[in-house]
Amino acid sequence: MIDLTEEQTNLLDSARSFARKTTPDLEGAGDMVARARNLFAAYARAGYHALLIEKQAGGRGLDYLSTGLIYETLSHEMPGTLHGPLTAVHCAEMIGNASRNSLHEQILSSIAKEGLCTGFCLTEASAGSDISAIATLVHKNGTGFTLNGTKSIVINHAIADTFIVFATSSPEKGRAGINAFLVDATLPGVHRGKPLGVERLRGSVMGSVTFEDVRIPGECLLGEEGSAYLLFMETLDKGRPLVASSCVGEASRALDLIVDHVKSRSQFGKTLSSFQGVSFELAELSTRLAASRLLYQDALMRIDQGLPFTMESSMAKLFACETLCTIAGFGIEILGHRSITEPDEILRIFYDAQLLKSIDGTANVQKMVIASQL
Ligand SMILES: Cc1cc2nc3c(=O)[nH]c(=O)nc-3n(C[C@H](O)[C@H](O)[C@H](O)COP(=O)(O)OP(=O)(O)OC[C@H]3O[C@@H](n4cnc5c(N)ncnc54)[C@H](O)[C@@H]3O)c2cc1C
Repeated sequence: MIDLTEEQTNLLDSARSFARKTTPDLEGAGDMVARARNLFAAYARAGYHALLIEKQAGGRGLDYLSTGLIYETLSHEMPGTLHGPLTAVHCAEMIGNASRNSLHEQILSSIAKEGLCTGFCLTEASAGSDISAIATLVHKNGTGFTLNGTKSIVINHAIADTFIVFATSSPEKGRAGINAFLVDATLPGVHRGKPLGVERLRGSVMGSVTFEDVRIPGECLLGEEGSAYLLFMETLDKGRPLVASSCVGEASRALDLIVDHVKSRSQFGKTLSSFQGVSFELAELSTRLAASRLLYQDALMRIDQGLPFTMESSMAKLFACETLCTIAGFGIEILGHRSITEPDEILRIFYDAQLLKSIDGTANVQKMVIASQL
């Protein structure tokens, strides 16, 4: 295990105390959209959506490893709540990695300083794992562009101020035809779908977004024309170990719940923890959890050190997500009927785990990336 620096220890203490103050709001009244907006604002006020944005732009300017350690801690303390802010991190990374004009700088600084909320609009009915099948069309329109198409599922769709939208100018060109744009969510022709009725990923709101003859200025283009696919891949590669850190946080929370339960619940005159059939399973799960933590930390350290990280990032996401699914599944089994009759935290983590499988690429997509690097 890595030794934390004094600064990292302080950062994690602050994250825990932030979570203690914020958790009660999560249970509060209000519809899904209001709750997501409040939660995002709370995270943004504390700067957790802008940890990686450089200080000159108003962010915290942290390294990747410290960011991952914080996201693990926040996900342990408030499972499932991080994915709105994590989307903002992905968007900020995408803007930060592109060659920037003054609009890009302004949006990056609004994200960092004013808590501007963003959404990432990529997935479509025909384009899931296969991004090159994007059908949202973009046409040049004088000095600007016009967008038409529908994105199936976008985290923050109902609360975002700005979207990053992927569209193609020439579907026959595949990846080379894909561009990404910063789109003001209040522009005429931007229609947000009804929030999907998922109580999983607590505090996140998601749904479809349709762009109908949306006219945007030329400076909204991110990066050079035709560069969006590579820009997106770089963003994903850097984002995957952060999603993995969040999986590790949720998995460690689930493991805590399980350990507490098996130590207090007795059957056949003994605590569940005294049965080797249970304790050996827990030993294996704790080992997997420790390995998941090392994998995500290794990938993030490699990013910080300028070493190749594509394969390590996918390994981290693949293994952390599988570990989370396994631990949460075991939690449902070992809590027995209590997983639904008592506060349903383990059930929520179980649902989160199933959904996290698709975020930033499915398990098979991670395997495709890993295999391509062998
Ligand atoms: C909770 C949640 C939040 C999301 N948020 C966003 C968001 O904010 N913005 C956004 O744009 N998208 C978002 N997505 C969409 C996500 O990126 C996609 O679900 C993901 O890319 C997979 O696409 P798909 O669901 O269409 O599955 P498909 O691509 O149809 O894949 C279905 C299954 O087939 C497998 N498969 C596909 N191709 C291959 C292959 N070549 N070899 C082997 N197996 C293969 C996949 O691994 C998967 O198991 C979100 C999804 C979820 C669940």
